[in-house]
Amino acid sequence: MLRDQVGGQGEIEIAQSERALHALEGRTDPFQVRRQNCPMPTTQAESAPQKALRKMGLTRDIDLALHIPLRYEDETRIVKLKDARDGDTVQIEAAVTDCEVQYRGRRQLVVTVDDGTDTCVLRFFTFYPSQQKSLAVGTKLRIRGELKGGFLGFQMVHPSWKPAGGELATALTPVYSTVAGLPQAYLRKAVASGLARAELGDTIPPDVPKRPHWTLKEALHFLHHPTPDVSMATLEDRSHPAWQRLKAEELLAQQLSQLQSKRARDKLKAPRLKAKKGGLHEQLLAALPFSLTAAQRRVSEEIARDVARDVPMHRLLQGDVGSGKTIVAALAAAVAIDAGWQCALMAPTEILAEQHFRKLIGWLEPLLAPRGQRVAWLTGSQRKKERGEMLALIASGEAALVVGTHAVIQEQVQFAKLGLAVIDEQHRFGVEQRLALRGKMLEPGHEPHMLMMSATPIPRTLAMSYYADLDVSTIDELPPGRTPVVTKLVADSRRDEIVERIRAQVAEGRQVYWVCPLIEESEALDLTNATATHEQLSEALPGVMVGLLHSRMPVPEKKAVMSLFVGGQMGVLVSTTVIEVGVDVPNASLMVIEHAERFGLSQLHQLRGRVGRGAAASACVLLYSTGDHGKLGDTAKARLKAMQETSDGFEIARRDLEIRGPGEFLGSRQSGAPLLRFADLMTDTHLLDWARQLAPVMLDRHPEYAERHIGRWLGGKSEYLKA
Ligand code: ADP
Ligand code: MG
Repeated sequence: MLRDQVGGQGEIEIAQSERALHALEGRTDPFQVRRQNCPMPTTQAESAPQKALRKMGLTRDIDLALHIPLRYEDETRIVKLKDARDGDTVQIEAAVTDCEVQYRGRRQLVVTVDDGTDTCVLRFFTFYPSQQKSLAVGTKLRIRGELKGGFLGFQMVHPSWKPAGGELATALTPVYSTVAGLPQAYLRKAVASGLARAELGDTIPPDVPKRPHWTLKEALHFLHHPTPDVSMATLEDRSHPAWQRLKAEELLAQQLSQLQSKRARDKLKAPRLKAKKGGLHEQLLAALPFSLTAAQRRVSEEIARDVARDVPMHRLLQGDVGSGKTIVAALAAAVAIDAGWQCALMAPTEILAEQHFRKLIGWLEPLLAPRGQRVAWLTGSQRKKERGEMLALIASGEAALVVGTHAVIQEQVQFAKLGLAVIDEQHRFGVEQRLALRGKMLEPGHEPHMLMMSATPIPRTLAMSYYADLDVSTIDELPPGRTPVVTKLVADSRRDEIVERIRAQVAEGRQVYWVCPLIEESEALDLTNATATHEQLSEALPGVMVGLLHSRMPVPEKKAVMSLFVGGQMGVLVSTTVIEVGVDVPNASLMVIEHAERFGLSQLHQLRGRVGRGAAASACVLLYSTGDHGKLGDTAKARLKAMQETSDGFEIARRDLEIRGPGEFLGSRQSGAPLLRFADLMTDTHLLDWARQLAPVMLDRHPEYAERHIGRWLGGKSEYLKA
């Protein structure tokens, strides 16, 4: 966005865009073929720039109008050299006084120009003979580029230039982000056409409080072509009123569309679930070997209140790793079962499903049996016969609790009375899968209550914007008696010391995890790494059982390894896949993460949460390797530093958001759904608050404004937010 970043634009680039412009000639409006709101036809021969436009998602007029410049160039005035300073990007008019090819290390064309107040040297390292000719002594030029004021006077490297004279621009010239095959000049013209044609009537009702001063139309026209007197700083930090309007609109669209889907959902019916006196819920509470934390009690009550209504619950239960979400889910399940309905529990992988719910089943099964009820398992790797039996149990209603992976929501699964669905690690499930759950209700217009659980706490601002349609419960305290985990950063070169440390831990009867990273490009390489580590450790630790777990292993084998580790016979577990380590082994006191620099922050935090679950002092060693560069990248460094400095899941999440931005942070929930392009949740909280307050008022009092607003901003994409 910096005006003074301009310059260095070589002749070649200009020549290319000019060629593209010529290619447009003969057609008065190359964009005419496109209708508003209608994607460009792809069957007809599409020119390269048209194709590029489509790929960039610039298909509707409004899309083009919302393609805001990256930065601007100032072609509105001619600067005198005597008034210019080192580093300024300026436009001057001057006459050529000298032009020659020199050899100073590199062959270069050196042109001296004089504007009557001072001289300036222009340097070109690539040039054509024809260009050399048009820069002949005596020619008057208009030159634009970045001035370097050295000891020997001003110079510009590869400035752009054309003959002097001609009109000056009246507004700053926009520079748009673009891709290969889409020349800037073509894009500029496309955006200008889109902007001129787009329907930009106001969609914010006239009578709303704190209505932005600028209209969208004014704001967009200004942002594409700001007047030269604008303060660049306010465009850069997006505090300019035009930017404020744009961001307010965007946040409003997001809030409207989520509120709209929430209201649509509120029209659906769900069964009223209430615990019975002396029923399963009470029995489960009585049977627990511990008492609930205050936070667990609070969120359980929030959930109980939700499911007692005949409107489907959509609640996100967030709590740090180890905060005890599972028992909260079990209590909710007990309420559903008490009320005579079935409950489904899903986890993203088989091992996770088994590990996560083993305890829960241990608690519930003995209580269910006397009632003639059972727990059913559903997984992808099940034998046909077993699966058939399970499906029958589910269909008859005998299975009060159904536990499993995605298999739970597959088509053949027919529930007798599904009342509550609990989804663990919800961010790993896609929108479609949650939609499928809705289809499990026998009566149309009905939906089971949904409880989603996540160990990645969502920072408040993100929750308010992206998850505005969800109710959120937070477990903000850990069960008592946990010992904090000490985190150490250790260079890979000191691996031997770590092996010694493992030996000592195992000698004390403790267990150790060793996690190798997942290298997405090469699963095979992954495996070799993990296998090699496994061999090394087995060799270095005679008499210790060292296990290996990786994603390619058949499920029964994985289960066998896991049960040896859970049972305590296995001292060290080497694992490739992060997710498979979602286990609860309180005796494990050391977690070693190899190539920790390759993991995401929340992954690291989750992994670390696997230790420190018992009373023993626990540690997490982040082994890092600086690779060939001998240096860690900035973001890797920031992640490792965050891990060392805090173990608070919320602080970790906040830093993760800072490091990664909301796009990556949100992961699959937003797959296909629009992310915020203009607003920044860190700085625009006042606009977010405004949008949150306005959205319900608009839907109530000005539904037609709301409809138009959503259509303009989200086009066809808002469907995704409805899941
Ligand atoms: P997460 O929130 O990561 O899913 P879990 O539900 O797996 O955490 O709980 C972690 C461990 O803490 C389990 O062993 C669980 O039995 C135990 N736990 C849960 N709640 C309490 C509590 N209130 N007091 C003591 N231990 C608890
Ligand atoms: Mg859990």
